[in-house]
Amino acid sequence: MPIQILADTVVAQIAAGEVVERPASVVKELIENALDAGASSIHVEIGSGGRQRIRISDDGSGIPADEVELAFHRHATSKLQTVDDLTNIATLGFRGEALASIASVSQLSMVTRSPNSQAGVLIQLDGGSIVRRQSVGAPGGTVITVENLFYNTPARLKFLKKENTEKRQIALIVTRYAMAYPSVRFVLQQDDREVFRSSGSGQLADVLVSALGLESFRNMVEVSGNDAPRDGAPHVHVFGYTSVPSLHRADRNQITLFVNGRWIQDTRLTYAITQAYHTFLMTGRYPIAVIMLQIPPAEVDVNVHPTKAEVRFRDTDAVFASVQRAVRRAVVDLAQTPAMRGARSLLSEGEYLPRWSTLPETRQNQLDLHLGLQSAGRRTHIPLQADREEDPTEIPEGPGAPLKPRTLPILRVIGQISAAYIVAEGPSGLYLVDQHAAHERILYEQFMEQHRKQQPVSQLTLEAQTIQLASSDAHLIEENLDVLRQFGFELEPFGPNTFVIRSVPALLADQSPDEVIAGILAELEAGKQPGHGGIEDRIITRVCKQAAVKAGQILSQDEMQSIIRQLERCQSPHTCPHGRPTMLHMTGEQIAREFGRLG
Ligand code: ADP
Ligand code: MG
Repeated sequence: MPIQILADTVVAQIAAGEVVERPASVVKELIENALDAGASSIHVEIGSGGRQRIRISDDGSGIPADEVELAFHRHATSKLQTVDDLTNIATLGFRGEALASIASVSQLSMVTRSPNSQAGVLIQLDGGSIVRRQSVGAPGGTVITVENLFYNTPARLKFLKKENTEKRQIALIVTRYAMAYPSVRFVLQQDDREVFRSSGSGQLADVLVSALGLESFRNMVEVSGNDAPRDGAPHVHVFGYTSVPSLHRADRNQITLFVNGRWIQDTRLTYAITQAYHTFLMTGRYPIAVIMLQIPPAEVDVNVHPTKAEVRFRDTDAVFASVQRAVRRAVVDLAQTPAMRGARSLLSEGEYLPRWSTLPETRQNQLDLHLGLQSAGRRTHIPLQADREEDPTEIPEGPGAPLKPRTLPILRVIGQISAAYIVAEGPSGLYLVDQHAAHERILYEQFMEQHRKQQPVSQLTLEAQTIQLASSDAHLIEENLDVLRQFGFELEPFGPNTFVIRSVPALLADQSPDEVIAGILAELEAGKQPGHGGIEDRIITRVCKQAAVKAGQILSQDEMQSIIRQLERCQSPHTCPHGRPTMLHMTGEQIAREFGRLG
């Protein structure tokens, strides 16, 4: 074949592969066009997962009659003129490709009228060629109907996903745009059934209730971060909603991110959000979040991906930090002031603790893991702290140290059950506290504080013990001697694969060094896998876990008091450092209801 320039329609079909790979991408492009046209109402109708029919109606600006044909040319756009404009894109579209691409692989008709035209235009295309054009009476706005998608590209037709997959994907796309544009009313109909509707009230919360359901939304808290940027960094406004720690998912798919109204995928920012739940969520569990970023357009390059689903930030670190900070604050605030919940207006009156303290999801594996450790059979010493409720201004931590703010109501210890749980009563009902998880939380916060203040956390071992290890383990210890030292482990190489233990964290002073080192080795080993949290953190949580009272240990009244008193003033009393709940709470009302005393 001699070299020849491809016909426009062929070029358009090839390009269509990038923009229009499936029905859901058609829906996405057409919604973006409607939004760019300033629509306040967008109606999406789908037949057979979009393969048969996609119709999108909007009440936006319409297309002037003399530009209608042009809109179907490749690289024809009203949104961009010069290369410079590319650095300041405020519209969702800008490449002028979508209409041409979609038209080239479908049978498409469009009725459009701009407000200053008397009549509208109906235009029909078959595989990208215009087959009909006429004036018609029409309301202001645009209706585009795409039928028989990929009818002329059998290869692509063959690779289409199942109808249900496509339906789900389309629903996801419509809800995402509804979230990003709460003041636009969206309706989605699939095969004549309405599956989603947003009110256009302008409130993200209203959209989320429609998208997630009221029950899930009740377990979301508001995120809001608008910190002044440090020198040279962009101003990033972060807002949205994120789930309380008891509401979580096995994957990250429910973490939704928008930048300047554009839905994006970004593994780093997704990581920033999950990181913000550190010690609140178990590894392998992810929050539900809808996070919006508002950032000056010049700070973000949207022109890096064919479907515009990925963007590049000029200062990624600053954006990452802003997101993480804002989400973390929302989660920590929630833990600290349980009564002050986001989504508050939807809560029933009198709810004192956050709902997540009442959601006992069984997490069997973790539980087993913990109980497995009790085999050590050692009785852990709990340093007693005097009961200071009479005078809350009194000083518990030595001279000058202020009493930490209370994060739980005052609880009265009733007793212990199963040698594992402390039963306590508070102003709003019954509390069942997991003694091990609670003690872990207490020790974790103490340890972190000492570490932060650089107070010594170690205790010299009385007689310098030696420990001999397998060579791979010895290697691992050797590599991490410095990190270990920061946390109070002083180990000194002493002959092949052997170390002298000079000191261990004070918390572990009465434990057998062999066991302690074995635990640390397990963490170092696990910490080598990427994505498993920092080694430092693993060491801290391991130390606390090993030092905490175990399930199976019978506690005296004083010991129980001491745990409860200290827990009441933990920063995050509701979860252990691994994210498991420390307590279950049953309100007086719940109890009365269970006994049939309430209607
Ligand atoms: P882009 O959105 O990148 O500009 P498109 O191919 O999607 O490219 O659209 C081409 C042009 O057609 C747009 O720039 C816009 O002027 C016009 N257009 C498309 N859809 C609509 C609509 N729903 N309402 C008004 N104008 C539209
Ligand atoms: Mg477009």
